[in-house]
Amino acid sequence: MPIEKFSREKVLSVHRWTGNLFSFTLTRPAHFKFSAGQFARIGLKVGDELVVRAYSVVSSPFDEKLEFFSIVVPDGAFTSNLQHLKVGDELYLEKIPYGFLTLARYQLPLPQDLWLLATGTGLAPFISMLQDFDTWTKYARIYLVYSVRTQSELAYVERIQQIAATFGEGHGGFRFIPVVTRDPDAALHERLPVLISSGELEQAAGAEFNPATTHVMLCGNPQMVDDTRAALKARGLSMNRRGEGNIAVENYW
Ligand code: FAD
Repeated sequence: MPIEKFSREKVLSVHRWTGNLFSFTLTRPAHFKFSAGQFARIGLKVGDELVVRAYSVVSSPFDEKLEFFSIVVPDGAFTSNLQHLKVGDELYLEKIPYGFLTLARYQLPLPQDLWLLATGTGLAPFISMLQDFDTWTKYARIYLVYSVRTQSELAYVERIQQIAATFGEGHGGFRFIPVVTRDPDAALHERLPVLISSGELEQAAGAEFNPATTHVMLCGNPQMVDDTRAALKARGLSMNRRGEGNIAVENYW
């Protein structure tokens, strides 16, 4: 990977949510323009080697900093090093953003109901979208569904409430639906495909999946993405191709 493709950016903050989840912000170079939902490629020097990984941008496209939300994979080539990040360190940022998990990809059906379904750090692109007023003006109803294993992994909950209050003021159509799969006492604790097939997710949202009005985005664990896609297809929804269709997905590994 030629180093000229990257700029060097400073770490401005680090926030640790749990032992294996943290967020950080970087300086944003003026040339780095992106749409909500896109990802950056971030590089870290490990010895002489530049190790590069994809990271969805959490920040709004209008923010002056770039925020990211990361897992720590204990033996992971990238995150076992990244976890020691501190303010003032430098990371490499590829100069252009990537990705098609953006709302612009939807042409038909027209925007009405938006379902954003994430596992773990797959929440990141949706926080970016929710900090873009365009999302709120386009969609009458927005359901953010965030599945984690334990309550302590529910990062960003306060931020989500703040974002809903600021960006969604007067909107009235936003629902945040957490799912905690290892907590039998949580209101919703089954895996997303099960919650869809049983109708529990729709019941919690007070809304139904409808091929004529629904846009649904899935992001995170590839097994969740596959199984959820199948559950949605069984409900008559279709993959979004060349602008048409309901379902768009992004796998993190
Ligand atoms: P890797 O060798 O890359 O992965 C080892 C294993 O760790 C994987 O096989 C998988 O089992 C597990 N794993 C990898 N990523 C995750 C994850 N995010 N959550 C749970 N388990 C995981 N990661 C983020 O933390 N935040 C992001 O915003 C993010 N955005 C991504 C966007 C795209 C388009 C893609 C393709 C991946 C994204 N990832 C994100 C994953 C990220 O690129 C790396 O895989 C992750 O940082 C781990 O790197 P690693 O070298 O430590 O481990």
